[in-house]
Amino acid sequence: MTTGARPVGTHTPTSGGLAKAALPYVDAAGSEVVQVYVSNSRGWALPSGDPVQDALFRTGCAERGVPVFIHASLLVNLGSPTEATVQRSALTLEHALRRGAAIGAEGVVFHAGSAVDAGHADAAMRQVREALLPLLDAAGAAGGPMLLVEPSAGGGRSLASRVEQLGPYLEAVDGHPWLGVCFDTCHAWAAGHDLAVEGGMTATLDTLVATVGAGRLRLVHANDSKDLCGSTRDRHENIGKGTIGEPAFAELMRHPATAGVPVVVETPTEKHVGHAADVATLKRLRP
Ligand SMILES: [Zn+2]
Repeated sequence: MTTGARPVGTHTPTSGGLAKAALPYVDAAGSEVVQVYVSNSRGWALPSGDPVQDALFRTGCAERGVPVFIHASLLVNLGSPTEATVQRSALTLEHALRRGAAIGAEGVVFHAGSAVDAGHADAAMRQVREALLPLLDAAGAAGGPMLLVEPSAGGGRSLASRVEQLGPYLEAVDGHPWLGVCFDTCHAWAAGHDLAVEGGMTATLDTLVATVGAGRLRLVHANDSKDLCGSTRDRHENIGKGTIGEPAFAELMRHPATAGVPVVVETPTEKHVGHAADVATLKRLRP
């Protein structure tokens, strides 16, 4: 299998065993990159993982030339005004980085988070700094997976939803080299970037690069949307079937900022079928 200049794949289910469930799914979907959860996406439990499945998965992905990414629990919010949530979030990221090293992952994606209360915004960014710096230093020193911050769909005092807001976020960790960016098209659209207008995706990616610098973008979540631009709603749709539309994804797959960057869909699917169609569409749209 060729990984291509922009390998395309899917968020991939793992229930039943990391290797046992995910590798057949990778093959069925035509994936050239894989993203998995290593803990419940809506829980705080931190499972240790099965060493046999870890080894089989790592080998299976290496044999296929498929890079691996982890999506951290959706509960992670380093900006929370609730101290217990901040502590659990940091432990969850530490766990995901450890699991990522075990399965050969390149990156751990987490949502930028929100301050929840207007009065908590400054404290939230200090929390981000205090939680992330030790994790980034340790991961960098060990040569482990990078942490990848994903701007959110907006609303709820988001710390970063519009791509310009990644500037202060990166400044909060002194531009640490082990913090990359994951750009989610549905989130950016929800946050008010008009990706559907001709040149809109290109302009948004230009702004992203101008804000964070070349090479900081390490992963793309390619998702169409069920909602309108600026809705702050995060309901994903299959590529070309939603309000963003296929031409925007053609711009995405041709933008210089995505050269060499893996592209993962997190779209609705029946078993692997919807995902396989979206993977095929994105492969067709790349140069
Ligand atoms: Zn996403």
